Amino acid sequence: MDEFSFIRSIQPKFYRNHHLIKGIGDDMAVFRQASDHIITAVDTFVDGVHFSRKTMKPHQIGYRVLAVNLSDIAAMGGCPAFYLVSIVVPKSWKKEEIQAIFQGMDPLAKKFQLDLIGGDTVSGHELVISVTIIGFVQEGKVRYRSDAKPGDIAFVTGTLGDSRAGLHILLNEGKYKGKEYFISRHVMPEPRINFSKQLTFLKRIALNDVSDGIISEAMEVAEASNVSIVIKEDFVPVHKDFNQFPKKLQRKWKLFGGEDFELFGTVPLKDWPYIQQIAQKEKLVVTKVGYVTDRNIHAGAYVYLEKEGKLERVTERGYTHLK
Ligand code: ADP
Ligand code: MG
Repeated sequence: MDEFSFIRSIQPKFYRNHHLIKGIGDDMAVFRQASDHIITAVDTFVDGVHFSRKTMKPHQIGYRVLAVNLSDIAAMGGCPAFYLVSIVVPKSWKKEEIQAIFQGMDPLAKKFQLDLIGGDTVSGHELVISVTIIGFVQEGKVRYRSDAKPGDIAFVTGTLGDSRAGLHILLNEGKYKGKEYFISRHVMPEPRINFSKQLTFLKRIALNDVSDGIISEAMEVAEASNVSIVIKEDFVPVHKDFNQFPKKLQRKWKLFGGEDFELFGTVPLKDWPYIQQIAQKEKLVVTKVGYVTDRNIHAGAYVYLEKEGKLERVTERGYTHLK
């Protein structure tokens, strides 16, 4: 693959964001930002580790990589603006397939008015894609994990466990109810940008996106805020066709499954109606799943699962890399 003709082929014909001064084509991209805070993050995906060519088409890989980054922007309460893509291309991938990865990102770029402003293209032994995202947030409206306070209610958007169920369907052929739904939740998750960026009205809200399962996300909020969080197991929302899977898997997937890219948050009780109102406007379901309480005086910040009136401390994490 010729690197230069490839870069030309993925170079945007026009840019959308008026903060941009120079996109692709020089040593660096240039943009200006006078008033907002700038937020940025990078995510890396390795073939065979974070996705598989067997279960995902190239355009779905591209879509998903960008969607995951956008989910982080949503979890910060930000508005996405730019992305950069670094890609390691093995010989076994055709130029058209790599282009399809980039085309897979286009619908999201269009939907959220993003510009591809740079990247890097190199050859190597396995396909690796790394996406850097840049967004803006109004000062004072960055949604930190450390903002949970005792007395807050805990909520989650959408339904949980769907993505893991979709992967299960992809890996185990058969007849399933809602097959297409679960698969699309896995391969083409929807970042909750439009929901979270309408919450600027709120003075305080802690947000985290559900990448590793609600328990793991709650744990991160609890630790960062130095509080404990109680999750009521039976309140965790699932899709209507979720009950077709074995009970044990349902529990595992909804609590520890991850990759649903929904938002987990905590807010003062008085703000709950406002959250519901915004969600309704976005045709998104929000569910109260628990509450924030003082940290355990003896030990620390914990997550508890409440089931049938009993509290159980959860020590088990969702999926943790490098273990
Ligand atoms: P350099 O030698 O400075 O690294 P390159 O030849 O790698 O420059 O890249 C030329 C231009 O193309 C730069 O603006 C760079 O950001 C952009 N670019 C290279 N690879 C990609 C990619 N995979 N996605 C988006 N832009 C890219
Ligand atoms: Mg380069």
